[in-house]
Amino acid sequence: MSVISLPHRKNLDIDGSPAIPFFTQAATFAQLWPLVESGVHRVADNGKFSHGAQVAALERLLSDYTGAAHVVGVNSGTDALILLLRACGLGQGDGVVVPAFTFVATATSVVHAGGRPEFADIDPDTYQLCPESAERAITRDTRAVMPVHLFDRMAPMASFAALADSHGLTLVEDSAEAIGMWQDGRHAGLHGTGGVLSFFPSKTLGAIGDAGAVLTDDPDVAARVAALRHHGRPGPTMDDFPMIRTGSALAGINSKMDDIQAAILAAKLTVLEPDITRRAVLADAYTERLFGVPGIRRLPGPAGTGPGDRNVCYVYVIEVDDRDRLAAALTAAGIGTEVYYPVPLHLQPCFAGLGHRPGDFPHAEAACRHTIALPLYPDLDPARVDRVCAEITRFYTGAAS
Ligand SMILES: *Cc1c(COP(=O)(O)O)cnc(C)c1O
Repeated sequence: MSVISLPHRKNLDIDGSPAIPFFTQAATFAQLWPLVESGVHRVADNGKFSHGAQVAALERLLSDYTGAAHVVGVNSGTDALILLLRACGLGQGDGVVVPAFTFVATATSVVHAGGRPEFADIDPDTYQLCPESAERAITRDTRAVMPVHLFDRMAPMASFAALADSHGLTLVEDSAEAIGMWQDGRHAGLHGTGGVLSFFPSKTLGAIGDAGAVLTDDPDVAARVAALRHHGRPGPTMDDFPMIRTGSALAGINSKMDDIQAAILAAKLTVLEPDITRRAVLADAYTERLFGVPGIRRLPGPAGTGPGDRNVCYVYVIEVDDRDRLAAALTAAGIGTEVYYPVPLHLQPCFAGLGHRPGDFPHAEAACRHTIALPLYPDLDPARVDRVCAEITRFYTGAAS
């Protein structure tokens, strides 16, 4: 793998430190700052600081990018999940099948929408929700199934569409990590009733604070989310929707997106495609160097797939022996790592009431014990991938690669 040149990212590793952080976007912002600044000035001049013109503009840009008929900007990916589930009509006690291996918000959002998470196991090769396990998790109360697109690929959506169809369930997607991912010609989040995006700073399209969005092709779901995010009122960014303009029809919350974050995201959207290409090149470099190293059990799959499909490496997660000692060795070498996710959801204290025990979802539990995420972000200098891989090789073989 030759070192790639990227004209859009000049100041790689801008802090000049020898350490390799798990995540930084300092160089990205150094490059984009003039564009960000003009957007922030527009917000200040306009005097409308949330739920204003920048948010509406970002919604249009994201609608063009994803092909979603409707994009509704909200305060976070978590709020997007809660409001999407509420807009789908989830009611008190309704079950939603979710994987046991994911970010906790996948399941807590079900709780906040009034429902009950029903956990299922993952496919041990892909870490995505397993359709067969999901089918076994269905009960009389189940109303919806919510696969998550985790790390570097999408869940098998044709299988979940068939499952939802045959059991009369609503299909929604936790696509918080999946901007830029397509399957069968559709962007993530658009394979059922709707999905979400998170713009948490470390996500593929990250703000410098919290923000999120709901994606849907369903005008009624979009109108309900648009009202729910703003105390049940239609807002100025949703003028196209035929909403009642006499008070709140729905008991909404305050989940308006900040216009400053929207302006920042619009600037970052201009480099999203080159960023995704760069992520793929860095991921391939890792895979090439780590393939066959003893102690490494599983590496991410390739980004390339069939026509109409594209995966994005949001985080580069490997499965290893002796995970915690490897993490400590990399920390000692100045290399940042993360464990997504150390505790499976069915064993987290907040879900103790559901009565699960260790062993219920063995693949999720094994993934929690054996996976570790390596640094991968557009600012990362490819030479640093070599250093990370050399440290890992040294850890498992005692020799540098
Ligand atoms: C990031 C993330 C969320 C939550 O998004 P926030 O914007 O942080 O609220 C939900 N689900 C998954 C799978 C995520 O990765």
